[in-house]
Amino acid sequence: MAGIEKVTSSSASECSSQNSVPNGTGHMLSPYSPQHREQPRIDGNIDVDTLPDIGDHFLVRRSDNSWHAAEIIQTRLNEVDGQYEFYVHYEGFNRRLDEWVFLDRFDLNNKIEDPQSKVKDVTNLMTDLSDGTDRKITRNQKRKHDEINHIQKTYAEMDPTTAALEKEHEAITKVKYIDKVQIGKYEIDAWYFSPYPEEYGKQPKLWICEFCLKYMRLEKSYRYHQSQCTWRYPPGREIYRKGTISVFEVDGRDNKIYCQNLCLLAKLFLDHKTLYFDVEPFLFYILTEVNRQGCHLVGYFSKEKESPDGNNVACILTLPPFQRKGYGKFLIAFSYELSKIDGAVGSPEKPLSDLGKLSYRSYWSWVLLEILRDFRGTLSIKDLSQMTSITQSDIISTLQSLNMVKYWKGQHVICVTPKLVEEHLKSAQYKRPVLTVDSHCLRWEPPRKIQKIIKK
Ligand SMILES: [Zn+2]
Repeated sequence: MAGIEKVTSSSASECSSQNSVPNGTGHMLSPYSPQHREQPRIDGNIDVDTLPDIGDHFLVRRSDNSWHAAEIIQTRLNEVDGQYEFYVHYEGFNRRLDEWVFLDRFDLNNKIEDPQSKVKDVTNLMTDLSDGTDRKITRNQKRKHDEINHIQKTYAEMDPTTAALEKEHEAITKVKYIDKVQIGKYEIDAWYFSPYPEEYGKQPKLWICEFCLKYMRLEKSYRYHQSQCTWRYPPGREIYRKGTISVFEVDGRDNKIYCQNLCLLAKLFLDHKTLYFDVEPFLFYILTEVNRQGCHLVGYFSKEKESPDGNNVACILTLPPFQRKGYGKFLIAFSYELSKIDGAVGSPEKPLSDLGKLSYRSYWSWVLLEILRDFRGTLSIKDLSQMTSITQSDIISTLQSLNMVKYWKGQHVICVTPKLVEEHLKSAQYKRPVLTVDSHCLRWEPPRKIQKIIKK
């Protein structure tokens, strides 16, 4: 990386002539020892060979001041600070924690030479796949060689194994270039990669209008836009209002740009979902907090207009500043209220994120426990499904986790005592949600039924 040499050349030339501390010398501590590592080791005494490059592993100080082995995945010049930054993945940690760090967060005297990582395996395989000579080249050397010579093979040009490895590598090294977004009064740290168009996608920070969701690279464009933008609430129809909470239904066909912008924003906080541009087959339900300035985006869920798999939610997200306040469960409850009116059962699209799984499990448990507490008589799983619009398989898995179902003569049978229900309801996990949906405040009819009436 020519760029990195630029930023370090002055200290490098100094240290080659004087005060050079060879890599690792004089350090009796284990490289993983957390002690004595409060001070960054960037004092001009850096060995040139230890400067970080893509694919290297170093100890890096996390924001909580702990040190962890990390792999360098990408580098860039931060134009605002005029310094190079390094995109690192902490080994054994969720990729949500991947981040851009400056050189002062590295322990440059302790390059990890033998990391137990996937990259090493890939390197070995690449060597085996090379031209058959004995000359061993590392993945990074090959990359450098190809970059210098402008060699860029497409997947089709590669042999299938290399293509598969390249694809895997691309997937595991997707870089979260955008680390922050400013939306309304909140500056939010991004968690994952999102495919914003080229010139926007490589900015460290994007500025986003909280009403129309237009994204901008520069603060001055954002300020100007704020003075011009007349939007104060989402497009589409307001279908719910109670107190300061309001929900809008937005059709992806009628408001394509808005919905695409919403999906791009959401992807910054969702790992797996891949819907960004094909928004027309979806409806979007936008949850907002209302005050005198307008309706402020809190979260949303999307839903296929026609779901062959019976999904009543495609994507669901509460923006980070609003998480842990009950909005996630409100959105889940809202999706089931729509299904109830629709007279259908539904389930969220898989895979769910970790946070999504927890929220759904908690919502299902609470709904079922409330019914089981108050109901007198016998109930089948089918009855519960009809009452709640939760699918039978989601009900069975929830009751199993609560230890309330038995498999008897080829059927799942609910098996509860009032005491068991009360015990579960007392635990903090299943307590009544902070925000509940008041179905009297919902003004909504299923789109399909409207169409049928028109046809008649
Ligand atoms: Zn705007």
